[in-house]
Amino acid sequence: MANSGKVFLVGAGPGDPGLITLKALKCLSQADFVLYDGLVNPLLLLNTSADTERTCRSHTAHGRMLNQTEINQRLIDEARSGKTVVRLKGGDPFIFGRGGEEAEALRTAGINYEIVPGVTAATGASAYAGVSLTHRKWASAVAFVTGHEDPAKTDSLLDYAALAAFPGTLVFYMGLHRLEEITRRLIEFGKPPTTPAIVVSQGTTSRQQSVTAPLSNLPAAVRQSQLRAPSLIVVGDCVLQRETIRWFEQRPLLGRRIGIPRPLAQALPVVEQANDLGADCLLMPTIDILPPEDWTAVDEAISRLADYDWLIFTSANGVEYFLSRLRETGGDMRDLGGLKLATIGPATAAALETFHLTADLVPPEFRAESLAATLAPHVQGQRLLWARASRGRDVLPQTLQGAGATVDEVVTYQNVDVDNFDPQVVEALDRGEVDWIALSSPSIARQLRQLLSPEAQRHIGKTIRLASISPVTTAVAQEVGLTIHAEAREYTWPGLFTCIQDFESAR
Ligand code: SAH
Repeated sequence: MANSGKVFLVGAGPGDPGLITLKALKCLSQADFVLYDGLVNPLLLLNTSADTERTCRSHTAHGRMLNQTEINQRLIDEARSGKTVVRLKGGDPFIFGRGGEEAEALRTAGINYEIVPGVTAATGASAYAGVSLTHRKWASAVAFVTGHEDPAKTDSLLDYAALAAFPGTLVFYMGLHRLEEITRRLIEFGKPPTTPAIVVSQGTTSRQQSVTAPLSNLPAAVRQSQLRAPSLIVVGDCVLQRETIRWFEQRPLLGRRIGIPRPLAQALPVVEQANDLGADCLLMPTIDILPPEDWTAVDEAISRLADYDWLIFTSANGVEYFLSRLRETGGDMRDLGGLKLATIGPATAAALETFHLTADLVPPEFRAESLAATLAPHVQGQRLLWARASRGRDVLPQTLQGAGATVDEVVTYQNVDVDNFDPQVVEALDRGEVDWIALSSPSIARQLRQLLSPEAQRHIGKTIRLASISPVTTAVAQEVGLTIHAEAREYTWPGLFTCIQDFESAR
């Protein structure tokens, strides 16, 4: 078919968004349409600009219920219309993922496809639980088994006698709801009741939880816990070693969910920091970053860069938008040759570094007052250019003009309020299913107050706590009626996470 598109059957990994492959990311960035399933971490969709649609096993507000035939047909139709289609599936597409059926349907329909394997739940969740499935001391084989099938079924494909005798580790997928039958059958067929076993739920995510017990006690132990699907059951002596080598479940913010109200385009690095501490993020942008409505003022300033002594940036966005515009209008970094560069803090300085520029000045405290005070002694009679946002405080020009400088301001990007949260965000907030919301600027605090429903506000101070990046942000939050529970000592995102950790560990 001349202009038929192509389908990529892609593994998304088990949950931690970092466990996707480079090839999968490339597919996502090139896709026109992404059909993803319920196990896929939605954060991965930040890597695509394609239309996305989720398939569900049951009716929910957020996805369409499609059966396998409909999914196959959907992939075929989208590809036939010339699109590059990614079918994104939890874990690996060929491990209990029905990827084989989809490939077959595509082959029959004459559609081109590729298959991109992924980290399957068994290896992902085991590694994060501290279980080495084939540790040479305890297991010379590993079996991936479906627990979905009724073990009592007479025509079962599963041979429990063989499974009980299997000389290695058994990993059951889709078995949580049949845990009792699975363990009972294994023991009936000769597996020692004392065999170490574990259930790992929501493995590799910040909601990972696990329960370890000898095989015969596992169902009772799990009943007492609140483990949820998706869960894996791992049976074998290698589970014992977990006590020595477990690591992930010790992260300080494991199980905590942090709302990130900053603009989507800046969320990813913050999400990574949160994930490294074990926390999960809810992206809930309150503000959008857009180019200025009119570039004239910026272009004019760019054409007169040689007239200035200092160029001042008070956000990474300012750096990004201003320097990109410099390139777009035919200039390059040599145009900055005669200028000193001032930034408000380390994140802004780091943004300069990505353009191979080093800040000449970063104030000791990362706020406008400190920047103004640090700059003031150097600017008598000098010309300063401030690449600023459409909104923000005016401390800087006031102080610097007072110190004898001329300050020109150009709006390099706009920060505009978001009108409403996504329905999923509203739902999570209304149910109080967020532990923290991290406020990183006064305008975010203000807009959060606007967007929080009365239901969500009732959870503030109870299940939902608010952390603020700085005293300035705290003051505005309080002014609009939001109580701040923790305030960063260093006015950066790492500082924000540290104050959350301190609060949590003091509880
Ligand atoms: N293709 C997927 C498996 C799909 S079957 C893969 O390769 O991982 C769905 C089952 O996978 C779930 O019932 C559960 O047993 C398991 N599973 C998927 N993600 C998991 C996770 N993060 N933690 C534990 N088990 C998971």
